[in-house]
Amino acid sequence: MSVYRSTRSSAEQQVSFEDAVITGLAKDGGLFIPSEIPSVPADFLSAWRDLSFQELAFKIMRLYIKEAEIPDKDLKDLVERSYSTFRSEEVTPTVKLDSHDNLFLLELFHGPTYAFKDVALQFVGNLFEYFLQRKNKGKAEDDPTRDTITVVGATSGDTGSAAIYGLRNKKDVSVFILYPTGRISPIQELQMTTVVDDNIHTLSVNGTFDDCQALVKEVFNDSEFNDKWHIGAINSINWARILAQITYYFYSYLQVSQAVGHGRVKFIVPSGNFGDILAGFYASQMGLPVEKLVVATNENDILNRFLNTGKYDKGDVKPTHSPAMDIVVSSNFERFLWYMIKKTIGKNDEKATGEILNNYMKELSTKGVFTVPQEVLDKATSILDSDRITNKETVSTIKKIYEATSNNYIIDPHTSVGIATTLNQIKKDNDPSIAYVSLSTAHPAKFSEVVDEALTSYPDYSFEKDVLPDELKNLSTLPKKIKLIEIATLESIKDTIIKTLS
Ligand SMILES: *Cc1c(COP(=O)(O)O)cnc(C)c1O
Repeated sequence: MSVYRSTRSSAEQQVSFEDAVITGLAKDGGLFIPSEIPSVPADFLSAWRDLSFQELAFKIMRLYIKEAEIPDKDLKDLVERSYSTFRSEEVTPTVKLDSHDNLFLLELFHGPTYAFKDVALQFVGNLFEYFLQRKNKGKAEDDPTRDTITVVGATSGDTGSAAIYGLRNKKDVSVFILYPTGRISPIQELQMTTVVDDNIHTLSVNGTFDDCQALVKEVFNDSEFNDKWHIGAINSINWARILAQITYYFYSYLQVSQAVGHGRVKFIVPSGNFGDILAGFYASQMGLPVEKLVVATNENDILNRFLNTGKYDKGDVKPTHSPAMDIVVSSNFERFLWYMIKKTIGKNDEKATGEILNNYMKELSTKGVFTVPQEVLDKATSILDSDRITNKETVSTIKKIYEATSNNYIIDPHTSVGIATTLNQIKKDNDPSIAYVSLSTAHPAKFSEVVDEALTSYPDYSFEKDVLPDELKNLSTLPKKIKLIEIATLESIKDTIIKTLS
């Protein structure tokens, strides 16, 4: 147990947890998955009931990481440090909304950047540092043979700040985050540029988000440069991010099932790259008896279309009110599909599973579309349900929840896509014996425009007073560190990296 394989390779090729985390992507272009999904103890519902978030995280991660790779003491310490930065003692509290029976909200935004990506990236940052420190043990500070990583990434908002806060001040790690000048929200820009630690470099690039992404790709493909500077990524396909997210499904389930006195719980997840909900899938395969996992998409609805038709078809990306979910393909969906294929062709045929998946991915990159057989779709829909929410519904649901809750609860537009999906589920199921946990992926202060649009007509509403936390209010007064990249070329990016690190 706890070795990792690629989703695409037909050959048996296994790597350690450390290699899966540090390399991110398998050599054959596939994603790393655990060779076997571990099971939770049979009595976990009672035995784990009173554990803290941190204790639970340790128990779950222990099942996926060999003790020989990270001893108990070190893993405990990593978990402790990763969640000490959260503003809530519970890390990811579940709250009851009094607007509807059986409706719960799992708040994932109490980390340093006020969005759910912190739950994973706070841990991944510490993990990177841990592995590097171990490799560099006994080497002097200025020893040129020290192992280092240069993380390079592009962001349209959320991921960049979560990565920066995860990696700030980490030894032997340097971070370069590219974002399009003038095209991200002021708060998101401030969250990145006010981190002035020596190892953090935000590059404001004259161009679009696609330009930034293309540049990052070019940097990765430049093998000579990559080898010299040990370019790394911590994007959403990194296995450690999925692993860290499994915890809150268990944590919330244990709380909600106790509160309602039964175990029928659906989780509804605002989805883009399918990383968040994939962690819920792993939880279910480990033995968490969830009733259903529900994918909530915005108008970029490739997942919803797939679950209705079996056709995975790239469309064009549309800018929506929930930008962190504006995707063309969902990169982590490949992992889920691997399991669905394997379930249809028999237990131990991983070779054939990898080959079938590899062909789908080839079709996706050449034709932009592939279709799975009905039996694979049936497996998928036995676990997942889905819905698609428009911009208009996103705004109206923010209003609806504000009006209907006695404490005038304010949700962000991503959370709103989830809640709108949840309300549709409640209506469709019409079954009071099901509890619904809707995942709240961002604090409303991060997406002020849409929240303001929804609530500005209420005389009592004030963004400054009701939404904006003091910590974010003060950002604009802090010193900033930005480097402007006027001419967006591979050479200028490489130059900047070389000059900064030399
Ligand atoms: C990244 C993100 C999502 C989407 O999560 P995936 O793991 O990509 O499906 C949803 N909401 C917010 C606020 C995010 O930052």
